[in-house]
Amino acid sequence: MSLDRVSALLPDDHRALYIGGRWRPAEHQETFEVLDPADGSVLTTVADGTVADAVAALDAAVAAQHDWARTPPRERGEILRRAFEAIAARAEEFALLMSLEMGKTVAEAKGEVAYGNEFFRWFSEEAVRIHGRWMQAPAGGSRLLTIKKPVGPCLFVTPWNFPLAMGTRKIGPAVAAGCTMVIKPAEQTPLTMLALAGVLAESGLPDGVLNIVPTTRAAEVSKRLQDDDRLRKVSFTGSTGVGKILVRQSAENLQRVSMELGGNAPFIVFEDADVDAAVDGAMVAKMRNMGEACTAANRFLVHEAVAEEFAAKLGARMGALSVGRGQDDGVDVGPLIDEKAVAGVSALVEDAVAGGARVVTGGSAPERAGFFYSPTVLLDVPSSAKLVRQEIFGPVAAIGTFATEEEAIARANDTEYGLASYVYTRDLARTIRVAEALDYGMVGINSGLISNPAAPFGGVKSSGFGREGGFEGIEEFLETTYVALPAG
Ligand code: ADP
Repeated sequence: MSLDRVSALLPDDHRALYIGGRWRPAEHQETFEVLDPADGSVLTTVADGTVADAVAALDAAVAAQHDWARTPPRERGEILRRAFEAIAARAEEFALLMSLEMGKTVAEAKGEVAYGNEFFRWFSEEAVRIHGRWMQAPAGGSRLLTIKKPVGPCLFVTPWNFPLAMGTRKIGPAVAAGCTMVIKPAEQTPLTMLALAGVLAESGLPDGVLNIVPTTRAAEVSKRLQDDDRLRKVSFTGSTGVGKILVRQSAENLQRVSMELGGNAPFIVFEDADVDAAVDGAMVAKMRNMGEACTAANRFLVHEAVAEEFAAKLGARMGALSVGRGQDDGVDVGPLIDEKAVAGVSALVEDAVAGGARVVTGGSAPERAGFFYSPTVLLDVPSSAKLVRQEIFGPVAAIGTFATEEEAIARANDTEYGLASYVYTRDLARTIRVAEALDYGMVGINSGLISNPAAPFGGVKSSGFGREGGFEGIEEFLETTYVALPAG
């Protein structure tokens, strides 16, 4: 496949570093390859930034910070609004580009464009609602005033699974709050972020506010930038292991941190649930993004009275999905991101089957080029199976059963993670009890899709801290200054 059809969105000279408003090659002209996951071929090459390049990007962000923080909120909001309109107008191109570098189907990529772009619209509206407060001290006399200010230059490290939305979710609030930024996109999918930079520049974002350093040297770059006391904030989406490294590195200069890390989402189906609706929801919660989402249902906990019915219906739906290249018509499920991903999913399935799980459908990688795995449903998954503890990140639904509500809650909470969770029941009292008892940042009731730019997205425990989207999202990018005033 070639990138010809998206060359207007991502010209050749934009497969580069974007620093201070200029596109330029890496320090020693080095490049790295971006692969097409549908066949493993090379799509294109991109500049491979060095540590010195990353420092140049931080220099640009620092230089732009002063004026950017003083740019009127309405102006910042309108840049985001113009970018929102531009992305909506170019949704097809963005979707195709994302499908090519990441593998997801074009239809699914269009869904991500719509979802990801909403962060720009939402934060264009939030930019003008940043406000402090004025109050009388409880004892009378002095007046307490608070001022909100941008935290300052930020580092964003993003993953490959949602190349657009994981960018807009951080860029939107940062622009709205008046922060400048250096972005290190995932090395598998740097192209969408570079295209996004082009659109933001055309929308009037001043030079130096947003800088992009594609690189294969993530560890050295993050270490060097976090060792720099001019960097004030790190926002990361990715694995818990890397998140812990970045939090440790933040200690030196006490940078603010937002961490959107791994998940191990339970999908609980009670005996009173509408089983067909639960199967519909399961298809979304499991198969969105081929299961490569931190919100993906990882453990299906189904009441023993309805488990066979649920597994048979889910198996029929999963088994009927067509697997193939994301740009081809009629394809439901694209490839996984790379060879390592396929090997990881295969190993988890083999381990579960060796432990006694029954394969309802799928259970292996199809014989073909590219990084594919067949949609799979496993029943009677033992609680000792590795995939009960670990994120599968692939199209595998692992079903275990439970007998009582207490057991379902205890098993759902028995994980180090706490990001998304899903509950199917028609009982209102149970809904309230269970939603309150789940140790998760997000609970979906009778729905397999919870992400919404107007809602606070984020987790607890090893899933991290901080929230993206909603009213909370912008707070991650603001500092509060308190001013004590005497009574008049
Ligand atoms: P995954 O295994 O799904 O790729 P990672 O957490 O390894 O998840 O990757 C998410 C992002 O973190 C990617 O952009 C990757 O390059 C980056 N990354 C990996 N290691 C580091 C590190 N030590 N410092 C900064 N970024 C890193």
